[in-house]
Amino acid sequence: MWEIISSQNRYLTQKTSILPGIGSVRADALSAAGFDTIADLIACPPRKYIHRKTAIPLSEIEDGDDATALVRVVEKDYIRKGKRGNLRLLVKDESEEAVVLFFNAPRWMSGKFSRGAELLIWGKAKRDGLGLRFAHPDFEFSSESEKKLIPVYPNSKRLVDVRFGQKLRSKIILGILDKMANIPDPVPEVILDDLGLPRFSKALRDLHAPADLKSLESAKRRFAFDELLLLQLVFTLRKKRACEDTQARPVKPGTLFAGLKSALPFKLTDGQNRALAGILESLNSPGRSMLLLSGDVGSGKTVVALLAACAAVDSGLQVALIVPSLLVARQHADFVADIAKPLGAEIGLLTGESGSPELIKRLLSGKIDIIIGTQALLSPKVKFKNLGLVIIDEQHRFGVKQRLTLPEREGAHTLLLSATPIPRTAALALYGDLDLQVLRGFPGIRAGVKTYLRDESSRPAVWDFIGERIKTGERVFIVHPRVEGDDFSAATFCFENLQKRFPGKTALLHGTMAETEKNRVFADFRTGKSPILATTSLIEIGVDVPEATVVIIESAEKFGLAQLHQIRGRVGRADRPGYCILLTGKEKGSRSWNRLKTFSETNDGFEIAKQDLIERREGEILSLSQVGKPDLDFADPLRMTELLENARIWAGKIVLSDPELNLKENSGILRGLYYIYSNTQIVESAI
Ligand code: ADP
Ligand code: MG
Repeated sequence: MWEIISSQNRYLTQKTSILPGIGSVRADALSAAGFDTIADLIACPPRKYIHRKTAIPLSEIEDGDDATALVRVVEKDYIRKGKRGNLRLLVKDESEEAVVLFFNAPRWMSGKFSRGAELLIWGKAKRDGLGLRFAHPDFEFSSESEKKLIPVYPNSKRLVDVRFGQKLRSKIILGILDKMANIPDPVPEVILDDLGLPRFSKALRDLHAPADLKSLESAKRRFAFDELLLLQLVFTLRKKRACEDTQARPVKPGTLFAGLKSALPFKLTDGQNRALAGILESLNSPGRSMLLLSGDVGSGKTVVALLAACAAVDSGLQVALIVPSLLVARQHADFVADIAKPLGAEIGLLTGESGSPELIKRLLSGKIDIIIGTQALLSPKVKFKNLGLVIIDEQHRFGVKQRLTLPEREGAHTLLLSATPIPRTAALALYGDLDLQVLRGFPGIRAGVKTYLRDESSRPAVWDFIGERIKTGERVFIVHPRVEGDDFSAATFCFENLQKRFPGKTALLHGTMAETEKNRVFADFRTGKSPILATTSLIEIGVDVPEATVVIIESAEKFGLAQLHQIRGRVGRADRPGYCILLTGKEKGSRSWNRLKTFSETNDGFEIAKQDLIERREGEILSLSQVGKPDLDFADPLRMTELLENARIWAGKIVLSDPELNLKENSGILRGLYYIYSNTQIVESAI
């Protein structure tokens, strides 16, 4: 919430050049590093904190480490060169000795170090034949640093060049904090008191100059809460707006729904029936529904969604079904058309950028009931007569803004199908405005997948296995992390080699091929004409070929866990057991190997999703989030469950008691929302 504070405070909006110690040279360097105003400086939290406990024995420090050590000065040399000189210290701790160098150091600096003095040093270490060295480390005499946590800010070479070091920076920031005492807190006091969170000014000071670990932790908790509160407020406001949307029309199942249900070659599982009932109930109640259907790969989400689509058509509404690739679009279109056509429903397939003029006309006149396509369907050029339901399959592929605008504009219900199962906490954190429907269990006929981890030496055996499987009419996917290259991690390379071994049986499929070519290749694979497909993660999601029983993943360590799980989900979907073989060049026992090993031993999609989210960098997690890029510098929603829960509760209370955020005590929050989310048009439309 720095932004809100600074927009209220004239001092903070000033250029850094008004600060003592910052002349035009430093100001320019600061500006190049992204610090234009005083607010920019205080908004940047320390990267880490040094204190005695972070010190490690010299003997454990490796070449290139960014390390902290607690040492004693053994010897000092100062070799004068004009006004300055080179200062060399020999230091040691219980484990080893090290050399500390300061080139071009002024004489007074040399005077600071006396033999026997204890100091804390931190910086980049060099270790080679000459031993362990630190050049220009930061340091603090041990007596000064007894209890203190010393902030370390992210730095750039340019800032180092203009001698804007850590000490000067800390000093300047403390000066700023002294001047900005008593700024109003953007979060109402009742909330802070309820959760035992520090006031903004105190938290800000504790962030930059913490008295101890405890106050640092509570400062971080406070800022994390601010972020989570804003995020949950956006969700709450958006949900409320959807609930009050009178444009959205209720959906009731009728003949098409019943027709599809009875035409299915199988009975729905209990889990599917339950999820479907939940979805239909929501679609039939007042307001615009925003639903998220989460279930493991192969749990049968698609059928549930298609049934919901038929119910919407029964209610006189159009449905847009958005899928990640044309391949999948075609697959769905074929499936639905077979059943729906005889029942009088019109299915359209939007290919290319924006569809033929003919198709667009039929959509606009309402002749098409269900339109299936990729995200091209979200384009404002595509117009509908009465769009009532937007289904987005494997939604994480789509941009946030795009995903929201269509349903909001048309007053249509939204049903998102998650590509990966989503743990409850993550769902709350990332999709807090959606009603979560969890699809549990699998269709009974599903034989499942066994996963095997193999190294390069197993390739001949693996290829023999391919030969065996295709003899019995089964299909084999081989998934590669890249298209071009001269080893087996590349689809083209592998394809050429496979062709020699299995002539006429192998096909190549990847994203950059022409659409018609892709369709032809995929059709040949589906029918079994070429039962071996060398491909990329293009087939990761949605692809459903019941005869596919083997998926081999080359350089498996290159894929994310959720991705591996998706790819694995392409086989073992029907009554024949699936085999997933992970190939890796990584050594047994290495971290990559163990990660894959763990993956190969679990089939629980929810567990894998959790691991996957933990593995990802925060930025990636956020790109999954519904609100675009909320600034989560402090909050780690997947781990801060309790804080997240509280943020959600308070967001609910605020919106309930002050739906337009008109009250004075909520003005800080309102500004925060505007500042952070204004470009996602959520605030304007919600308030
Ligand atoms: P996902 O949840 O991964 O999207 P799908 O909807 O693609 O799963 O379903 C996986 C496979 O299981 C498909 O081939 C589908 O036709 C089949 N299927 C779905 N529901 C059932 C069921 N109740 N009984 C038998 N097979 C089913
Ligand atoms: Mg699916």
